[in-house]
Amino acid sequence: MTDKEQTQNESYSFKAEIKQLLNILAHSLYKDQDIFLRELVSNASDALTRMHFESLTNRDVLDVDAELAIHIEVPEVGEEEPKRIIVKDSGIGMNHDELITNLGTIAQSGAREFMAKVDDENFDVSDVIGQFGVGFYSVFMVAEEVRVISRSYRQDDTAVVWISDGSDNFVVEPAEKSDRGTEIHIILKKGAAEFASEWKLRQIVKKYSDFVRYPIYVGENQANEQSSLWRKSPSEAAQEEYDQFYQQMTMDFEPPLLTIHFSSDSPIHLRALLYIPSKREPGMMALRKEPGVLLYSHNVLIQEYCTDLLPDWLNFVDGVVDSEDLPLNVSRETVQQNRIMRHLGKTIRKRVLRELKKLAEKEPEKYKKFWDEYGRAFKEGVAMDPSAKEELLPLFRYHSSKSGVELSSLAAYIERMPESQEEIYYVLGNDADTVAQSPHLDPFKARDIEVLYWVDPLDAFIAPSLQEFDGKKLRNIDDADLDLPEIEQSDETEKETILADKAFNLFVGRCVTTLGERVTEVRESKVLKDSPVRLVSPEDAPNKEMQRIQRYLDQNYEVPQKILEVNRSHPLIGNLAHMIENQPDNELINLSIEQLYASALVQEGLHPNPSQMLPRIQELMLLATKE
Ligand code: ADP
Ligand code: MG
Repeated sequence: MTDKEQTQNESYSFKAEIKQLLNILAHSLYKDQDIFLRELVSNASDALTRMHFESLTNRDVLDVDAELAIHIEVPEVGEEEPKRIIVKDSGIGMNHDELITNLGTIAQSGAREFMAKVDDENFDVSDVIGQFGVGFYSVFMVAEEVRVISRSYRQDDTAVVWISDGSDNFVVEPAEKSDRGTEIHIILKKGAAEFASEWKLRQIVKKYSDFVRYPIYVGENQANEQSSLWRKSPSEAAQEEYDQFYQQMTMDFEPPLLTIHFSSDSPIHLRALLYIPSKREPGMMALRKEPGVLLYSHNVLIQEYCTDLLPDWLNFVDGVVDSEDLPLNVSRETVQQNRIMRHLGKTIRKRVLRELKKLAEKEPEKYKKFWDEYGRAFKEGVAMDPSAKEELLPLFRYHSSKSGVELSSLAAYIERMPESQEEIYYVLGNDADTVAQSPHLDPFKARDIEVLYWVDPLDAFIAPSLQEFDGKKLRNIDDADLDLPEIEQSDETEKETILADKAFNLFVGRCVTTLGERVTEVRESKVLKDSPVRLVSPEDAPNKEMQRIQRYLDQNYEVPQKILEVNRSHPLIGNLAHMIENQPDNELINLSIEQLYASALVQEGLHPNPSQMLPRIQELMLLATKE
């Protein structure tokens, strides 16, 4: 510590974006001013949690046995004096440098984003300020002056005070404070004098901070219930309480998509209150920044982000798991290896999947939301951990050639299968609209057989590991030798339009010379109906699903060699074949073959850059419109 720090007050300038923020806060009137208390309590609670974890491994701290609590006081003042409030915590505290950095000189991207939002007229500052990492400054909505007196938990740090009236500067100087933690002394603005009332403060604590996990005393009495909601019997808790608890825990202002509350007493004691957030990505300033659940034993928090209970593909589950069978004061390593942990994990995983299954049955709309948001997590799960397939596949949903806007499960697909059908068919591609036009679908449309649309890159990625479901093989329909039931070649006229051998062979020969190395073979298709050509994989092609992935991963992606199958009875092929016979030098021929190939690549989702087709299309149009 330097002499300067001990004897002088130092004046600092707020970062530019904080100045702007303060300016807005000081000069406008907001409807929910009372949220300043929520923000201060939330900061105090963070500081207490950090203290709690520090003391698990470090006993050499100031006031090692002090109660972890928050105290809110309304000191007496003279008639003429401005009213005051003090918010005090026994948390981790801040030393000289931390005070300066944390409350004023750290660059705050959140502040900028916050201000961008404030420009929006229909937006109430107080609703969201806490989500931008600038919650502390909301105190200036009600304060004329704020003093933050803090003493760090480190034995050799001394107390400091930070003083500001919310204009451009703040001052930091040495202070008197013998106990650990932080005190926020607020001198209220005239217009905010109403907050200097224990009754009022107690109301606000109830409203926003009832479930904060440390006692909050207003005056002499505890104001928050701090009850462990998860310890209540599920039949006694209301959804409203669950939502409130969730909000206070996460600062996510969207209600959770799913709440799961359950308990069991044997063989292992377990209470769990779990949430699936409505969005997979937490908001930038969400309180809980990491995956994992809160792990409690005997009502003591032993891990704040426990990821060892659930597999990675469920790491979006948030909430509380409490078991009295877990030993207190366990290190992270032993938690991981603990037999009870394994048992807890298995029980919870099963329960979550069961609830999801129930959701899919009872509220398909909501399940669709879940699937849109988290389906990829499950696909990643199958990719990383093939043993999870059995549990996860029943929860998968796809669009199909018959599902319309709905999604279908594999089981529902099987149920719709005609008796003669033995395999589950899927087509890979980039999006449902494109694959709906896929030439591979021709024979399936002709036979009225349903095909699943696998249009997520991850679908292609995991396709090789999905061999079967419920005893039925899963088959990619670009397979050249699929065994489909015969259909009657009905009318005679169709037969008549089939191209003669000579003309057809001419066309095939021209394709071979035009496309060269790009195709391994050009041959007649036995299945195409409405489409002129399609691309199929050679039998020995290395993992064709992976080729598709390559396109996403690899900048220098090379289009894989394919077999071009030609529909002998398609009028376009007939026209081209005749043109080859009669005017072999017509430019239209090669251009058309190139375009047929390019279109087929697009339909496969394999074209490296579809816009390359545009000059050719223009040329074709030019030729077609020539008089
Ligand atoms: P956030 O809480 O999102 O980080 P705030 O503006 O509310 O943003 O607080 C800024 C920082 O100030 C906190 O991250 C923390 O480091 C520090 N801080 C605020 N209040 C306290 C407190 N009571 N005890 C210790 N540190 C605090
Ligand atoms: Mg905060």
